[in-house]
Amino acid sequence: MKSLQDLVRPELRGQTPYGAPQLDVPVAVNTNESSYAVPQEVVDQITRDVTKVAASLNRYPDREFGRLRGLLAAYLQRTTGEPVTAEQIWAANGSNEVLQHIVQAFGGAGRTALGFTPSYSMHPLISGRNGTTWVDGLRDADPTRFDIDGDLAVEQTKRHDPEVIFLCSPNNPTGTALDIDVVRRVYDATDRAIVVVDEAYTEFARPGTPSAVTLLPGRERLVVSRTMSKAFAFAGARLGYLAAAPEFTDLLRLVRLPYHLSSVTQAVACAALEHTSTMLAMVEQIKTTRDELVAGCTELGLQPVPSDANFVLVGGFDDATATWQALLDRGVLVRDVGIPHHLRITAGTPAENHAVLQALSAVTRGDD
Ligand code: PMP
Repeated sequence: MKSLQDLVRPELRGQTPYGAPQLDVPVAVNTNESSYAVPQEVVDQITRDVTKVAASLNRYPDREFGRLRGLLAAYLQRTTGEPVTAEQIWAANGSNEVLQHIVQAFGGAGRTALGFTPSYSMHPLISGRNGTTWVDGLRDADPTRFDIDGDLAVEQTKRHDPEVIFLCSPNNPTGTALDIDVVRRVYDATDRAIVVVDEAYTEFARPGTPSAVTLLPGRERLVVSRTMSKAFAFAGARLGYLAAAPEFTDLLRLVRLPYHLSSVTQAVACAALEHTSTMLAMVEQIKTTRDELVAGCTELGLQPVPSDANFVLVGGFDDATATWQALLDRGVLVRDVGIPHHLRITAGTPAENHAVLQALSAVTRGDD
């Protein structure tokens, strides 16, 4: 008798599902969510709008999510200064699903996706689960340096000649934004790869960091993916989106499941986008808390990596896995991203940040 393990697709055999721990702890700073609740004004709007759609849930939602696309285009245009139309926008249930749509449409069996490690762990997972061969590119010849070396990225692009390339800016888990010139150079190094710039954390970038949205004109293979999960403090709503050429978004309609964005999701996301400044009100505070986390870690003799995101990758631990456990024993859940001597910590509220630094101080001093 064959077991289900024998029957499952060969590339899934023995794999483990994505699994950041969801533990009930006093300070959960492991998944780069916002620690701030959705503002009451927006909660009220959501409640009114969901009540309105509730009676029509007998009908399928707007399959082309027109109003939502318009609001997302307006947000991108306002914040990047680049003209963006509704036709250039695609959205799905979290940017993970957006990324999956890209791989489903442009990757697949016999095709290759290239990323520059360490980067977001779902890029290889989404590629592999959809039959695409993943190539783990190098960020720099020196693995202790986390910025992407442009020459090396261009060389690897030419050598592997992939169908899809993932860049991430600011990069998860290292935190730093990518020099936009690298995006330009990687794009020019290939005439066939879809170049995806994952900008999930872009709203937290330090001043002077342009979005790759500004590079979209004239580059029909360039895609910029975004999410409402981070700066918008809306991870539970599951709304990710991208901007690209209208011809590109049109092709994604071939792979999405019909009516993939529910009426409730569309109503909730539109309500939030109508209150953009309220939703984004805590971004400056989070940036301050992040910078305090960097300063606090430096004071403790640790080596935080400069961050443009809502988290900090902190180096300098003798045994990162043991430190992760010691912090958890103190009620602080951080992320062990598998980089030796490093842990990733989300900037939470000032009180959470204080608790994190207290726990780090105790753990690095070796207190019981
Ligand atoms: N991209 C990056 C770089 C991320 O870190 C995350 C979330 N951790 C995502 C995409 C996916 O976010 P979501 O599906 O919630 O939009």
